[in-house]
Amino acid sequence: MRSKLPDSKLSIFSVMSKLAAEYGALNLSQGFPDFDTDPALIQLVTEAMQAGHNQYAPLAGNLRLREKIAALVLELRGKYYNPESEITLTVGASEALYVAITAFVHRDDEVIVLKPAYDTYEPTILVQGGVPVPVQLEAPYTSINWDAVAAAITPKTRMLIINNPHNPSGMIFQKADLERLEALVHGTDILILSDEVYEHIVFDNQQHQSVASVPGLAERSLITASFGKTFHTTGWKTGYCLAPKALMHEFRKVHQSTVFCVHHPTQVALATYLEEPGHYLNLSAFYQRKRDVFIEAIKDSRFQVTPSAGTYFQMLDYSKITDEPAPEFAERLTKENGLASIPVSVFNVNGQDDQLLRFCFAKEEETLLKAAAILNAI
Ligand code: PMP
Ligand code: GLN
Repeated sequence: MRSKLPDSKLSIFSVMSKLAAEYGALNLSQGFPDFDTDPALIQLVTEAMQAGHNQYAPLAGNLRLREKIAALVLELRGKYYNPESEITLTVGASEALYVAITAFVHRDDEVIVLKPAYDTYEPTILVQGGVPVPVQLEAPYTSINWDAVAAAITPKTRMLIINNPHNPSGMIFQKADLERLEALVHGTDILILSDEVYEHIVFDNQQHQSVASVPGLAERSLITASFGKTFHTTGWKTGYCLAPKALMHEFRKVHQSTVFCVHHPTQVALATYLEEPGHYLNLSAFYQRKRDVFIEAIKDSRFQVTPSAGTYFQMLDYSKITDEPAPEFAERLTKENGLASIPVSVFNVNGQDDQLLRFCFAKEEETLLKAAAILNAI
């Protein structure tokens, strides 16, 4: 058999969560909350089911939900996406990313990916016969080397993928980053795939900088979003894509032959839940408190911290403790110390090691304090 992805290994998220379960370790590896979603949202889904919303949704998604998304994006980003033609509900941001790449990347097209990168981008590019062009950023990943990105652009560049706020580093883009990006792609036909799943989790009074707010980028961008991150429902796999009409037209051709549509009662419930802005506007403060509890609790440990600026991930530098490669150290920490994390190196070019582990702090404070006690003892 000729594999389309000969070099693809089992996802690090599955590897580490399985190891955590096997060894009974505290699991701060795979990114998901250890607390439940709002009972009011669960009630709304139940009511939507009882009201009979149990058959296929429209292929682009429930119209009322698309209208609510349009209003939210207009309010926060200052850009109107037409619910009829520019918004599509997807099976998590994952499907949106897959469809966006599939719809636009042709054989031999180059796609620039900033590393460390979330692990679905490159396999999807490869499956389409495209060529991932990785640009390795420098640890601790607090900024982007746009000169390196500029150097990676060629006449074959079809797409550039960005992720802001950034998983695994917690970096966020500044306005200047988007200005630089706009200047780089101006006059080209390069598309931007902007993965903004953590858009509502930005700390220290900073603002999320969406490509939607920059006209020269919005006109060529597909933006992915996830209700899983925003409403603590990663298991519901509900997200969406925003794009200008002409791009969305092509996006929907692939979406309709991939999943056609998304779980219907969830969409009906989300449309009502989104009517209360507090449900997403309070998320940054909610997670900033968790970040701060975690950082404060490990301040006397031998791990070095650059506070995360967004997402629900905190990277820790363990170079003062050992020179073991990150995958080995993460494995040992899980097996011997009972705490699972993600080695950042797996997201880098050729596994380049930066002696960083990623910890998910979407956890009850009690869990974070238990994790801190383990880290303090190392
Ligand atoms: N992009 C990034 C950067 C992520 O961290 C995630 C979460 N796993 C996704 C996309 C996928 O989101 P979803 O769970 O909604 O499919
Ligand atoms: N986005 C999550 C993370 O980064 C995990 C997603 C997954 O398990 N595939 O941890």
